[in-house]
Amino acid sequence: MDGLQSHGKQGGQQSIAHRIDIAGVDECADTVFRMPRPSQRSRSFRRVKVNTPSGSPRVHYLKRRPGQAKCRVCKKQLHGVPRKTPILMKKLAKTEKRPERPYGGNLCSSCTRDILRKKNLVRWENV
Ligand SMILES: [Zn+2]
Repeated sequence: MDGLQSHGKQGGQQSIAHRIDIAGVDECADTVFRMPRPSQRSRSFRRVKVNTPSGSPRVHYLKRRPGQAKCRVCKKQLHGVPRKTPILMKKLAKTEKRPERPYGGNLCSSCTRDILRKKNLVRWENV
């Protein structure tokens, strides 16, 4: 009788119990839900699904990426400046962090052009 009852109503639960036996831990869903540590419950961390080598997808709590670099004069978004955390920026070469030109990584190209023109004018007036 017991066997028949478990087949009828609790079929789903039985399969979950079976999976628990295989894994040894309470991994029953496709995406493993674990209660995050108190320090990880903050939404200042972004949640990234990562497929681990064991085959079970996990949630990794990573720091949010910093904002896009902006021009100091016109506040336009700068190209050629990666949006990475300081640790990842440290791994990049100097030439990968900003454009290789005067004021690269601080001013946009049009503001750089204006400033260089003004500087040139001042130089010629003084001569
Ligand atoms: Zn600008």
